[in-house]
Amino acid sequence: MKELIVATRNSGKLKEIRGLLEPHGIRVLGLDAFPQIPEIVEDGVTFAENALKKAQMVSTQTGCCCLADDSGLVVAALGGEPGVYSARYAGPDADDDANNRKLLAAMSAVPDGQRQAAFCCVMALCLPGQEPQLFEGRVEGEILREARGNEGFGYDPLFWVAGQSRTMAELPLPIKNSLSHRGQALRQALDFLVHMGR
Ligand code: IMP
Repeated sequence: MKELIVATRNSGKLKEIRGLLEPHGIRVLGLDAFPQIPEIVEDGVTFAENALKKAQMVSTQTGCCCLADDSGLVVAALGGEPGVYSARYAGPDADDDANNRKLLAAMSAVPDGQRQAAFCCVMALCLPGQEPQLFEGRVEGEILREARGNEGFGYDPLFWVAGQSRTMAELPLPIKNSLSHRGQALRQALDFLVHMGR
């Protein structure tokens, strides 16, 4: 395989995915290269449903191999929120700052020791004429009371990574990729592609 469409317009995600796939000779195109593809509504109630919907739609519309991820933050003390709603936790047009502020407010009364959270990712890979494949990754951590670090995106500055003594936003990208939910799922997808001889 020389080219893979990744069904996202999120530049932070694309950068991470390119970092892992391009060294293996896979050219990654984001949805910005396909302006004719309309916005895909993520109306599933699980990460897998959303990932599959995005990968299948883009693969059908382009006739190309497509990888889609759905990911988010799952906070135990919030009953699993924001989960599949992570990108729009503070509203439909919310940005990272607004989402982080909402998370801090929602967690303000949650005591230390009960602030466990996990980043979860499901990746769906659709190759024309083949059954879709799903790959999953998860990384554990805790939600801090204030932001730390400038790397990454989304909830990274509030996510204290278990075993790293740093937030996700304090980790250089290669280290984040080596342990992140998306990195785990992506390495499984890469392994699948390599073993298919593509
Ligand atoms: P998606 O584009 O629907 O998968 O939305 C994922 C949302 O979950 C992002 O907009 C972020 O808010 C959050 N998220 C997913 N992965 C990460 C990550 O690696 N770091 C920080 N936030 C993330």
